[in-house]
Amino acid sequence: MSYKINVYKIWWDGKDDLYVGSTRQRLCTRMTEHRRNCKKGIQYKIYGAMRINGYRFSYVLLESYEVSCKDEQLKYEQRHLDLLHPNLNKNRAYNTPEDSKRMQKCYRDTHKDKLRVIHKQYRETHKDEAKQYRKQYYESNKEELSIKYKQYREDNKNKINTYRKQYGKDYKDKIKAQRKQHYKTNREKISKNRRNAIVECDCGITIRKSSILRHMRTQKHKKNLQRVNLYYLNLLPFQ
Ligand SMILES: [Zn+2]
Repeated sequence: MSYKINVYKIWWDGKDDLYVGSTRQRLCTRMTEHRRNCKKGIQYKIYGAMRINGYRFSYVLLESYEVSCKDEQLKYEQRHLDLLHPNLNKNRAYNTPEDSKRMQKCYRDTHKDKLRVIHKQYRETHKDEAKQYRKQYYESNKEELSIKYKQYREDNKNKINTYRKQYGKDYKDKIKAQRKQHYKTNREKISKNRRNAIVECDCGITIRKSSILRHMRTQKHKKNLQRVNLYYLNLLPFQ
């Protein structure tokens, strides 16, 4: 939906001060608002000038436009800024996307160190939230992510292998210590898993590792073993 905007200028007779603005309101309404903002003590150049030069300023409509969004409004305002170069407008009203990208980059570059500290602080104070967020994100995108990761691993097989090898070399002692620590803290679980591991006996059956010694003393094992041996000697069909 489009709406009408008015681009206006404000000045004081006999002074160089000039301001250009745009509004959806009627001009007299907007001027009242300007005066009110000034009394509130808002720190804009235009209000600073109002405090010095007084509230009895002149204003005039420069042009009206039909626009469909704020961006478009600011573009029209910028036309008049470029034409009149008013001294009381602090910022350009409108930047092209390229303009703002450049400005953002410039800002990031000049405030690099400050930003790094701020970001670090932010991450630290929002650690739990971030963790929660990642967890939630993972849960709700599990399937897509696993496909993506698998694809990534396949596409970068060599890179990953090289990296792993190098990592293993670089952090040999650290890894060793970590494994030791892991074993220490999970000793019971690990040894239980080991005991519960399924292994294959020479006689051909599969069995829990913890039971194999007992099993090897049984008649069943001996008979099985005999049959396996006979099979290997081609004396018995396998069953
Ligand atoms: Zn056996």
